[in-house]
Amino acid sequence: ERGMKMLEYLEGGPWPSYVAELRKTKYPIEAYAEGLAKKYTPWLSGSFRVRYVFSGILARRSRDGKFVEIHFRTYVPAGRFYSTSYLRKVVEVAKRYGIGLLELGGNTGALVLNMIAEKADEAVDAIRTIMGSDVGGSGDTFREFYACPGPALCEFALYDTLHAMDYIRSHPAIYRYLNTQMFPYKIKFKFSGCPMDCATANSRADFALIGTWVGAPEVDQGLFRKMVEEGKINPKEIVDSCPSKAIIWDEEKKELRIDGSKCLKAMNCIRRAFPAIKPGKNRKIALLIGAHAQGHFGPKLAKAVALLDSIEEVIPFAEELVNKYMELAPRRHRIGDMIIRRGFKVISEVADKTLPNKPRGTPSTHLRISIGAVLTDDERRLYEDWS
Ligand code: SF4
Repeated sequence: ERGMKMLEYLEGGPWPSYVAELRKTKYPIEAYAEGLAKKYTPWLSGSFRVRYVFSGILARRSRDGKFVEIHFRTYVPAGRFYSTSYLRKVVEVAKRYGIGLLELGGNTGALVLNMIAEKADEAVDAIRTIMGSDVGGSGDTFREFYACPGPALCEFALYDTLHAMDYIRSHPAIYRYLNTQMFPYKIKFKFSGCPMDCATANSRADFALIGTWVGAPEVDQGLFRKMVEEGKINPKEIVDSCPSKAIIWDEEKKELRIDGSKCLKAMNCIRRAFPAIKPGKNRKIALLIGAHAQGHFGPKLAKAVALLDSIEEVIPFAEELVNKYMELAPRRHRIGDMIIRRGFKVISEVADKTLPNKPRGTPSTHLRISIGAVLTDDERRLYEDWS
């Protein structure tokens, strides 16, 4: 009864409810309610296998344990752009083998089909032959590749996140670990086109690749003055929005000056005064390492390693770091946990070997997102020790 009340609560309000959608499927909703009330985990880890498939398939039981559905994670295109013809194929496979549930934008970065256990073998074949995709994205592999829409939709994109994700995922050095569980724990790559970080790379990815630039943002003084005259922006607000106090408004000359050596790439001024203020032209990709929401030592933000000129430069670094990770980290420790145990010098040594002459993550080039106010005292202390 308590569980049913919780479901009612989740269905209330004017917004769409997943409970209302769940009622339309074959999923036993009463069992779900019971599980909610008793806080059962639905995952049956390691209990279900499909021959020759080593990752991407997980069994989930209904909360009363009577009904088991199989959760198939499939690879998605960068930016999750689906064509309608592809979606038709997804629906065809789901109708034949599924229970009536699909997750097009799951937290895992995968397109998830929820299938009937008895038809799992056939479902894998159908995903490969009809959809032209494959199953993967769970276990101790490279997984949850996720890119923001980047240049396809967003004027702030500072590098091509879509190309970057496709390039990294299909590179032989990475591809060979996609379906083979070789690591102490999972490794995630996320790609954000700018420091606003829509892919949540800074807080969720072992490898975070975030577009940035060196120096000050570019200011079109004529356009800025015009926007001020038209009342579209208030220079005082722009000055106050800067967390590093890098902006000065010269009232006499009607000129906005930004000190590039102080700029921490918070994007606040750019968001308020775009296109009069834009990111600088000397663009880079910031490589940050070791974030995750869950791990042996708890959640961590990423730590800045280097500024890259192109995405190709990540590969030798990733290969070397992955070897170190397999050598040094115990089971269920993420890369961020390895940093806590072994110190940031593990990462610096790999960077010195594979990324010589690259600007390192010193505080002045550090993204604000990496040293911002959200750091805990412990993390700040660790960061200072490593620096
Ligand atoms: Fe746009 Fe930046 Fe968000 Fe990517 S991370 S969608 S580039 S604002």
